[in-house]
Amino acid sequence: MNDLRDRIEHIVRQVVMETVERSADSWLPAPFVGGRRPLIVANWKMNLLAADVQKYLAGLAPQIESGPEVAICPPLVLLPVLRAALGKHSQVALGAQDLHPFPFGAHTGEHNGAMIVDAGADYVIVGHSERRAAGEQDELVGRKLQAALAAGLRPIVCVGEQLDERENGTTLKVLRNQLSIALAGLASPLPDPADLVVAYEPVWAIGTGRTATAAQAQEIVAFIRERLGELLSFAWAARVRILYGGSVTVDNAESLAARPDVDGFLIGGASLDPDKFSKIIARAARVKSLDYNREVER
Ligand code: PEP
Repeated sequence: MNDLRDRIEHIVRQVVMETVERSADSWLPAPFVGGRRPLIVANWKMNLLAADVQKYLAGLAPQIESGPEVAICPPLVLLPVLRAALGKHSQVALGAQDLHPFPFGAHTGEHNGAMIVDAGADYVIVGHSERRAAGEQDELVGRKLQAALAAGLRPIVCVGEQLDERENGTTLKVLRNQLSIALAGLASPLPDPADLVVAYEPVWAIGTGRTATAAQAQEIVAFIRERLGELLSFAWAARVRILYGGSVTVDNAESLAARPDVDGFLIGGASLDPDKFSKIIARAARVKSLDYNREVER
């Protein structure tokens, strides 16, 4: 039943999008709506050292404070280093890349939500495809999401299909499952919509240089928003930020950010270069009609 519905929905969206695409630039600019302040997140993964932090921050455009919300998710050991070093970029939020679902106990090498808060983070990524590749399943992603919220962290829940799933037409089915299992524990009262972020990260686009087209990103992000609405509340879903992630670059940032449901990015590779990261933020800010000094685009 859902399969048929997904197919019909996909076709309807494609027809609508093709009509919109034909009138060039009709989607530019896309001021942010629904109180969803755009969010750009850097995922440093397992890169950089404490000695790199000052240089990185010095390389960020000073104006990043006035545009989208910006968060950096470094390796966990660098969180206190970044927190201490942020200085003039004090509005930049920090995040961890994972957390353990239990609040304490015999879990050698793991970190709970309270420790991550203590280290200076506001956000935490859960369900990243690189952790799913190491065996993490949707049910565990859901428990981590609950643990993050309980600790006062804002989870960034990653979902996305594999290449073979896109090619065999099961993308929407995969996402429907990922969302319904990961969000199953969310009940009334729902968290403040600003406290939960979803990142659509097609696995075939992560670190591959193969980006989803802006139309593909918009289709899936809109689909995710509707599923959040069906599962929880449409009014709430309209205020939840949904990011796109997967080989975002300075060149493709503008067209992706111009899509009305794309509220920002989760960025791996390009976030390691502060100049590229600043330019991506600037481009997203411009299409979302945010006040951001264009000098960054020199
Ligand atoms: C990621 O790691 O979440 C990611 C999107 O990486 P990249 O930007 O390198 O594709």
